[in-house]
Amino acid sequence: MTIKAKMPLSKTIALVAHDNKKKDMLEWVMYNKGSLSKHKICATGTTGGLIEEALNIKVNCFKSGPYGGDQQIGAGIANGEIDILIFFWDPLTQLPHDPDVKALLRIAAVWNIPVACDRASADFIISSDLIHREYERDVPNLSGHMNRLKK
Ligand code: PGA
Repeated sequence: MTIKAKMPLSKTIALVAHDNKKKDMLEWVMYNKGSLSKHKICATGTTGGLIEEALNIKVNCFKSGPYGGDQQIGAGIANGEIDILIFFWDPLTQLPHDPDVKALLRIAAVWNIPVACDRASADFIISSDLIHREYERDVPNLSGHMNRLKK
């Protein structure tokens, strides 16, 4: 049986940008300030602090990415508290928290939330008609998995 999760009108959008991508992220949030103001924003610590300063809006800041922020956002996705992930990760730099980056992308795919890893994809998400509507997405049905070892 398919299980659905409702994404409300006002969505919770998580923003994460690696250091070489923070400029991109700031430009993107400034350009999309109007649309973003209709949603709740959360972010890893440094990214969130910069966005709060630049946009003068309230951002729910988690720990900095390398110190657990990526994992906190992953937990928010698994708990159904985060609807969309905009994650400008750096494909040209080796980072100490690479396993956390992979884990975050993996859990976002497990829970079937929209993810943008670059500005073009983020533009498509933010300009989608669905951003203004409630949306029901398929989520994993865990009962089969949880009972897999029972006779
Ligand atoms: P930061 O974390 O926003 O605290 O820099 C981002 C990351 O490196 O995952």
